[in-house]
Amino acid sequence: MYHKVEEVKFKNNLMKYVDEQPLPNDFADWLNKYPFKDYFYMFFRIEGKGKNKKYIGACQHCKTEGISLKSIKNGNYGICPICHKKVRFRNEKYSKSFYNKNYIAIIQSADSKDTFVLRKFLVLKHNNYLNTEYSDYEMERCYFTYNVQDSFRIKFWYRLYNGEWTFGYYKNMSYTLPNIVWTYYKNLDCLLYDDFKYSCLKQVSKEIPIEVYSYLDRYKTFPQLEYFAKLKMFKFIESIMIYGSYQLHFSRNKVQEILGLNGDYYRFALKLYKTLDYETLRGIKFLQAYKIPATRANLRLSLQLENLMYNKENIFIFLKLGFNAISKYLKESRCDINDYFDYLRNCVELKYNLEDTAVIKPKDFIKAHDEAYKRVQYLSNKDIYEKANKVFKKLQKLEFADKTLAMVVPKEAFDLINEGNNLHHCVGSYIKRVAKNESMIFFVRKQENLMESYFTLEIDPKNLKIVQCRGLHNVSADDKILNFVYRWKKERLNKLKVE
Ligand SMILES: [Zn+2]
Repeated sequence: MYHKVEEVKFKNNLMKYVDEQPLPNDFADWLNKYPFKDYFYMFFRIEGKGKNKKYIGACQHCKTEGISLKSIKNGNYGICPICHKKVRFRNEKYSKSFYNKNYIAIIQSADSKDTFVLRKFLVLKHNNYLNTEYSDYEMERCYFTYNVQDSFRIKFWYRLYNGEWTFGYYKNMSYTLPNIVWTYYKNLDCLLYDDFKYSCLKQVSKEIPIEVYSYLDRYKTFPQLEYFAKLKMFKFIESIMIYGSYQLHFSRNKVQEILGLNGDYYRFALKLYKTLDYETLRGIKFLQAYKIPATRANLRLSLQLENLMYNKENIFIFLKLGFNAISKYLKESRCDINDYFDYLRNCVELKYNLEDTAVIKPKDFIKAHDEAYKRVQYLSNKDIYEKANKVFKKLQKLEFADKTLAMVVPKEAFDLINEGNNLHHCVGSYIKRVAKNESMIFFVRKQENLMESYFTLEIDPKNLKIVQCRGLHNVSADDKILNFVYRWKKERLNKLKVE
């Protein structure tokens, strides 16, 4: 019992000191500028139509209404033409009162000596059209001290629903808080012990959400963080904090060497300082490895390519054709890089000669792509496809037409795959069933365009009953189509029985 009383007393003292610490005067101002900077809205409405379409906005920052805007999209970011602050566009037709949520931290003194507390809050920004207001709920207090030997000693206290504080992890706790949060940066000098004098903790906290102790711990083993902060590579620091320093030569002392980039590529990385992260660095290293000029367009392509280079053939083509030739070809033939490598894989499977330019750079890419795909499919399912083709051949005599509609019999198994792709349903997977005589497939088409997929009909070969008749995205057939199908059934299909 005595023990319990002591604990309560200890807790009360510990909490009381912190309870009495006021939040910084400019707390709301800091919330606006940093943690919630992406959550300010420009509400807009659209007036008129066509050429006379007008976008009229109202800005949450400067509270100006009736701002005339250029064409904008809901959810996109832009700049308010009046106050020049960053805003997010939000169509007025959606609710005008809603909230945004974020977690933030403030570091304060926890007693009169050298214990500090990291207070973690859930903050809600309540948007009521142009009026905004914050509310905060403190959820966690981490008490910590620092000494050179064992770094940070941290004790966690969590807030329960009844407002009480509990020490350590509470098993009935129904929430977990993120570790990496926006941290109030202005009073962080208190943590700049000798060890951390050059850690740039303040500058970094101003730019990105961090976990203060992990940042300082990382700084102890990797003091070069300072260089990255000085180069304003904050996104890159985020990568280091999340993924560690594995991509880096962290025993080196020059940024260029740490990154492993030479001359041009390093200068290119410096130009991209705002967005440079681990992924971008990998892309730049790829350009460097193949001596490809460091440009933004090449970087984009290299990031796509990198994911595709697991395949030896791709590397071969890439080296043979050269990077610029590939990008030129992709642009000219308007083909997507994924489709292109898809095609190459199929060419490899078909043992096409990859030294042949006509293979690597076909004149009609889409046609070559589809044909190679067809061929690979055919070869891997040869027996089934041939059987299905035979079935279709036999059924050709069932073709039928009236003034507006036609019943078309597939010419080959591949027509089912095309039909399925065109109508976004799964008839392509029926080839096997057709081959085994478990299903019959026909195409209902419009007379005016017999090549265009319209409806797909499935018949049960055992009793010649209609199983289903489906159009785009599996939509069911209407009466007009069904009447046509019944007529065709009577005049053609049912005669199969007699034979
Ligand atoms: Zn404004």
